[in-house]
Amino acid sequence: MKLYSTKNKEQFFSLQEAVLKGLPDDNGLFMPEEIPELPKEFIDNLENYSFQEIAFIICKHLFKGVIPENDLKSLVENAINFTAPVVSLDENIHVLELFHGPSLAFKDFGARFMAQLMSYFNRGNDRELVILVATSGDTGGAVAAGFYKTLGIKVVILYPSGKVSDLQEKQLTTLGHNIAALEVEGTFDDCQALVKKAFLDKELNRAVRLTSANSINIARLIPQSFYYFEAYKQIKNKSKPIVFTVPSGNFGNLTAGLFAKKMGLPIAHFVAATNINDVVPEYLESGIYTPRPSSPTISNAMDVGAPSNFARMLDLYCSSKNVMTDEIAGYRFTDEETRQGIKEVFDKYNYIIDPHGAVGYLANKAFLKENPTMQGIILETAHPSKFIGEVEDTLKTKVDIPERLAILKDKEKEATSIGIEFNPFKSWIMGNY
Ligand SMILES: *Cc1c(COP(=O)(O)O)cnc(C)c1O
Repeated sequence: MKLYSTKNKEQFFSLQEAVLKGLPDDNGLFMPEEIPELPKEFIDNLENYSFQEIAFIICKHLFKGVIPENDLKSLVENAINFTAPVVSLDENIHVLELFHGPSLAFKDFGARFMAQLMSYFNRGNDRELVILVATSGDTGGAVAAGFYKTLGIKVVILYPSGKVSDLQEKQLTTLGHNIAALEVEGTFDDCQALVKKAFLDKELNRAVRLTSANSINIARLIPQSFYYFEAYKQIKNKSKPIVFTVPSGNFGNLTAGLFAKKMGLPIAHFVAATNINDVVPEYLESGIYTPRPSSPTISNAMDVGAPSNFARMLDLYCSSKNVMTDEIAGYRFTDEETRQGIKEVFDKYNYIIDPHGAVGYLANKAFLKENPTMQGIILETAHPSKFIGEVEDTLKTKVDIPERLAILKDKEKEATSIGIEFNPFKSWIMGNY
């Protein structure tokens, strides 16, 4: 497998380079040179394969021998160790629950798989990798859980003191082992500034092998294609063409779906669902792409004004808006509509959906109204208890927090308090790693 940068298709990188670098130096994004079509025999018989077997077969075709089969098998089994069940609301509306991992959101798939790949590519290197992550709350939890106890890798998470929720803080500060938390007396921007400075500091980089767990690392995208196959497999009646509806912010999840389609999964259409941060739906209508600052909403993991994976989407469609609109429809919804969506799903189907999933539900409904011969799978990207305040206020109903998160409440927080000056932070890293 070789990868190129979306900004330069002449130069190629190995999977190892792409995963360990995260981003090419030219500020493009890594893309696979080839996304191979999988054997028809495999796609026609998905029912005969477990989720892990599906993931393994996809990797085998995509990586083309970069990782020996035995290693690849255990890598995949370590990464994909929770389920992605489909729940049908009625015969044409299905919900793919992607929140059965440790941090209750789909980002667990990407984080775990990236951890396994980084660890694999760092094997035999006697210097451990130290991953620096600044978080405003959410991604940190997925990264911490994803890298927990991964061989040869240490993780340092910087979070702004007092600015993350109690449960989020517990997710960052109670794991221990190879995960360390730094509680920064400052803002998220201060955390990010410290991390940025660390990567530029020559002395520090000689002493410690630093890397990032960038959200646009190709290792996070690849595993997100697995569950499109897993979802398709679970639809019993495939006589109606299948549409995937993806609540989107940075469009990583949707791009992974485009990979799945290229691999031969019979996906009839994609629906890009956004909140009022709608630069992509706008592009699909007008052909004009206008990135801009984001506006806050109740589906805040999708508050993105300049989606980073849009460059990958353009690349896949050779920058043709017409080709893109042949396969992707876009819809946007306001917070008020989103709340109505949460209520409707509960009243009609007795199912509690989170605000991101609700945006997906509404987009799916709008699309099926215009395309009544199809059926839709909505990606439910987070467990409703992650947005418990909003969901409980809207439904006047109690939302249960899953056991794996609820037990964190009683665990002891362990974090090192630091200020926003760089030198003490640098000394802390050099002293500890
Ligand atoms: C990150 C996130 C999204 C957006 O996913 P992208 O791949 O960035 O489009 C949607 N919902 C939830 C809950 C998320 O955490």
